[in-house]
Amino acid sequence: MLDEQTNCVAEIVTRYDNDPLRLMDIARAVHAQLGHISESTIGQIAKALGIERIKVRDMVSFYAFFSRQPQGKTVIRLCHAVVERMKGADAVAEAFEKALDIAFGETTADGLITLEYTACIGLSGQAPGALINNIPFTNLTPKDVPQIVEAIRKGADLTTLPQAEVDLGLRQPGPVIFAPMERGAAIRKALNMTPEEVINEMNKARLRGRGGAGFPTAMKWDFCRKAEGEKHYVVCNADEGEPGTFKDRVVLTEQADLIFEGMTVAGYAIGAEEGLVYLRAEYEFLYKHLEQVLAKRRHLGLLGENACGREGFNFDIRIQMGAGAYICGEESALIESLEGKRGAPRDRPPFPVQCGYKNQPTSVNNVETLCCAARIMVEGGEWFSKIGTVDSTGTKLLSISGDCEHPGVYEVEYGITIQKLFDMVGANGTQAIQIGGPSGICLAPKDFGRKISFEDLPTGGSIIIFGEERDLLECMRQFMDFFVEESCGWCTPCRVGTTLMEQYFKKILDGKGSQEDLAELEKLGVTVKTMSRCGLGQTAANPILTTLRNFPDLYDARIKSDTFVPPFDLKLAQQAGCVAANRQAAVEEN
Ligand code: SF4
Repeated sequence: MLDEQTNCVAEIVTRYDNDPLRLMDIARAVHAQLGHISESTIGQIAKALGIERIKVRDMVSFYAFFSRQPQGKTVIRLCHAVVERMKGADAVAEAFEKALDIAFGETTADGLITLEYTACIGLSGQAPGALINNIPFTNLTPKDVPQIVEAIRKGADLTTLPQAEVDLGLRQPGPVIFAPMERGAAIRKALNMTPEEVINEMNKARLRGRGGAGFPTAMKWDFCRKAEGEKHYVVCNADEGEPGTFKDRVVLTEQADLIFEGMTVAGYAIGAEEGLVYLRAEYEFLYKHLEQVLAKRRHLGLLGENACGREGFNFDIRIQMGAGAYICGEESALIESLEGKRGAPRDRPPFPVQCGYKNQPTSVNNVETLCCAARIMVEGGEWFSKIGTVDSTGTKLLSISGDCEHPGVYEVEYGITIQKLFDMVGANGTQAIQIGGPSGICLAPKDFGRKISFEDLPTGGSIIIFGEERDLLECMRQFMDFFVEESCGWCTPCRVGTTLMEQYFKKILDGKGSQEDLAELEKLGVTVKTMSRCGLGQTAANPILTTLRNFPDLYDARIKSDTFVPPFDLKLAQQAGCVAANRQAAVEEN
C-alpha cells in the first residue's frame, strides 16, 4: 500500500515537472488516484517538491473537494444552497440517508458510498441537484434516490440514468453573448490593429467587467499592458460560485470558442503569451469539452506559435481546475489558487494588473466580459455602446431561479426593470428578490421598478425570486451559514463577525431576540462590512442589512420582548449543578 502511494506521488509529481506552482494539479491527481490525501501522502508530496509539509497541508485542508480521510468509491455531493432547499433538497437528503443508512459526512460500512453536502454547483435552475463522482444530477426527488443508489451499488454507468441530464437552460439568447460567431473573426480583426487600438475599441464600447464591480475593461488592459514584467498573463475567471449563478456553465457549454477568442484578443492587447482558464471544480464535467475546443483552435492555427499566422504572436491557453472554494472567485484569491496555494485574498496594492500570477502583470477577466470583448472586435465598439444604458452598455446574462415558472439563463439589455424580469420568467406574487446572490441585496415590491444596471442595481448575474409563501428570514439565515462556512478566516471582522451575526440572527429567528439584539445585529453587520479585508467579508452582511432595511416588519414580528431574553433556559441549565450541590436554583420561575 505504501509502495503504491509512493509510486503514485512520484509519478504525478514528475508529470508536473516537480513544480510547486502546479500543486493544485498534483493534489487533484493524487486525490483522484488514492481517494484521499493522508498525512503521509502530504509528507511525500512535500518531499518530492522540496517544499515544507505545512505548505501542502495548508493547501489541501483549504479546499472542499480534498478529503484527508478515506472516502467511498462514489462520493455523492448534494447541493444544499438556498434555492435547492426551496425546491426540496432536504427531502432528497433524508431519502439518501435512509437508503444508505448513514448521515451526511459519513461513508457506508462497505466503503462504497460517501454522502456530503456541497455549496452551489451551478444547477439552481434545475434544483435540487447533486454531483455524483462529479457527474451532475438534476431535478432530484426522494423517489429518484433508490434507483440512483441501486445503480451505484451495481456499478452501472451513472451517466445513463435519466437524472444525470443537464438542461442547458438558455431561455433567451441576446445579440452579444449568444449570437452566432465565426471562429477566428475577432482575433483576425484585432491583429489588423495595434494593441492600443484594440484597447481603444473596448473604451469606445464602454465595456465594464461583468463580475459586478464594473471596472472598465479598457483601463484594466491598459494598466496591464503598461505594467513592467518578464511576462504578462490573461486569466479567465470561470469560478462562478455565487449561489444561484449558473450562466457561465451555459456559456462554457455553448460559446467556449467565443471565450477563447476573447482571451486571445486580450492576450494580443496586453502582450501576453499565456492564458489560463480557472475552472471551478464543480464544472469538471465540462473540462473535456473545453479541451476539445482548444485542440480545434490549435489545429486551426488560432492558438500556439505565430497564432493566426501573425509572426511573433505566440499565445496559448491552459485550463486550471479548482478544488471547491467560493473565495477563489475573488481575483487575487484565484491567483493564489492558480499558484497551487490556499485561496486567500492578497493585500492590495499591488493589484493583479501590476503583480498577479507568478508576480507578473495579469489581467483577470470574467467569462462574460471576455465574450463581450470578442464580440466588440467583430461588431465594433460603437455598435456595442448603443445597447443598454449610458453607463451600462451591452447585455447582461442573468441566472434566474427560485419561485418562477421558467428559471434559466436570460441575456437581457442593461436597463431592464425587475418587473419586466418577472413577466419574462413567469413570477407572480413575489415577496422579495435577491439581486447578486447572497452577497447582493434583497429587495421588496416597492423596488420592483428599479433597473438592472451599474448605476442602479449592479449584479454578477444571480437572481433569486422568493414567492410570498417563503420564510424570507430563514432563507437569509441560510445565506449567513454560507458565509460562515466560506470565510477563509484570514481577518477577524469576517471570521468572528459572521459567526456572531449568525448567532444573533438565529436568536432573533427563534423568538428569543430583543430590540437590543436587533440593534446589535445591525451594528455588527456594519462593522463586518467596513472592516473586512476582501469582498467576501465586505458583502457578507448584505442579506441581513438589506432585509433589516426593506423588511422591518418581518423582524418586528419575531421580537417578542423589549427586554433581554436569554437564548437558553437558565433554570434548566442550572439543574444538573443544583442536584450535584444539593442546592436551590438561583433563578426562579416567574
Ligand atoms: Fe478571508 Fe473573509 Fe477576511 Fe476575505 S474578509 S480575507 S474571506 S476572512
